[in-house]
Amino acid sequence: MLVALVSGCLLFARLPADAHAPAPSYDLLITNARVVDGSGNPWFRADVAIKDGRIARIGRISPETATRTIDAHGQILAPGFIDVHTHVESIYSLPAAENFVRMGVTTLVTGNCGTSTTDVGEFLGRIKDKPLAVNLATLIAHGSVRRKVMGLGDRAPTPEEQKQMEAVVEQAMKDGAVGLSTGLIYVLGTYAKTDEIVGLARVAARYGGLYATGAACRKSPDPVGISFVIVNGAPVFENNQMTAARSGVALRGSGYLASNPQITQIH
Ligand SMILES: [Zn+2]
Repeated sequence: MLVALVSGCLLFARLPADAHAPAPSYDLLITNARVVDGSGNPWFRADVAIKDGRIARIGRISPETATRTIDAHGQILAPGFIDVHTHVESIYSLPAAENFVRMGVTTLVTGNCGTSTTDVGEFLGRIKDKPLAVNLATLIAHGSVRRKVMGLGDRAPTPEEQKQMEAVVEQAMKDGAVGLSTGLIYVLGTYAKTDEIVGLARVAARYGGLYATGAACRKSPDPVGISFVIVNGAPVFENNQMTAARSGVALRGSGYLASNPQITQIH
């Protein structure tokens, strides 16, 4: 399991060689850490031993038991963070993903906002030849599926096109996609009516996927500021809620600021 040390620099110390010492059983020991384990518990002070890339022991652990020791000097030690909203379709060109790893992010979810690969099997399969420093998951995105099946047309899909889009989503879910994304403020998302999205979300739901939307509406008078778009009101949000309710898919809003009581109810 990848772990992340957060904030500040670390001192690396190699133990002196000792012919009489027992062979170390851990590859790495992180001492004097404040552990935040991600379960919701308060932090606690502990040492963490790692063997073969996995956490082997947490507690008070003697430095002699490890090949290499890092003294965390009371800094936070936590499981790697998950960034659920990325656009890293080109990650294989930067497999070290240093910009994420240096922030403690070790799992990425890409394919957000209606844009993704449409061949999830091929996309995830590339990891075999090109290992990444991070874990990778992808959504199958409505806009990309629509483009593949219908081109750039501003019109409703024919029943046959709807079926084809649902088949692309189904294949993507079988190939490991974690859900469906939309970007209903972006072309081609702006061309879609609720029924179209519901049809695709229903397929994702059948495979246990979630519905991740980066949708927003810019017309309402009561703005809600967020990270990458401005959510100015409820119409599209209601549309998304309706999509979730009708398709049985779990809804995740992307980038919403939780100052709207409606929005805090989703995750
Ligand atoms: Zn996005």
